[in-house]
Amino acid sequence: MKKKEKAVVVFSGGQDSTTCLFWALERFETVETVTFQYGQRHAAELDCARAICEELGIRQHELNMDLLNQLAPNALTRDDQEIETGEDGLPTTFVPGRNLVFFSFAAILARQIGARHIITGVSQTDFSGYPDCRDGFIKSLNVTLNLAMDDDFVLQTPLMWLDKSEVWELSDQLGAFDFVREKTLTCYNGVMGNGCGTCPSCELRNQGLEQYLGRRTAGALK
Ligand SMILES: [Zn+2]
Repeated sequence: MKKKEKAVVVFSGGQDSTTCLFWALERFETVETVTFQYGQRHAAELDCARAICEELGIRQHELNMDLLNQLAPNALTRDDQEIETGEDGLPTTFVPGRNLVFFSFAAILARQIGARHIITGVSQTDFSGYPDCRDGFIKSLNVTLNLAMDDDFVLQTPLMWLDKSEVWELSDQLGAFDFVREKTLTCYNGVMGNGCGTCPSCELRNQGLEQYLGRRTAGALK
């Protein structure tokens, strides 16, 4: 039974948020997405997010967050910055406060469109040291948003305790394994599906995929 409530999924067109989108579609009567533009390295990322929403018939909201890049130039948006571990031990893809800003805007949008549930694909398991992917932060922000807007939003994080192989497993359970595998873009070099295979994001994605496929095969042989 689907809840007769509305949800908004913070959506990038990558593996995690697409899995969250299918998760939401299974649970909520109405699902919309919000995609943030912040000068991504590759326009392909936005194209991919748009194409997925179009194919699934989902209303997508795009918000321009270029100002974030103005404040915090980083390797996700600048071609001249390598993706690596920085001097502070965090990957150069880290944008301080990004999820704080994104999820706050997502909540303002949710309020406007009458959505109670805000769904994001953050995960503490693979959080690569990003402090604003952690469960404590999400719970704290949930309280703050509700106090700030006198509302009762529910921040949902279906991937919080899953590793990448379990995210693949979840997409399979949702009947979306092939869709996620072929139509999402996670690669830092802008290559769809299985990606370039060498960037840190591809390594994580493909490693998880191999682990899951290994488990699935072992299960099928039993
Ligand atoms: Zn890649």
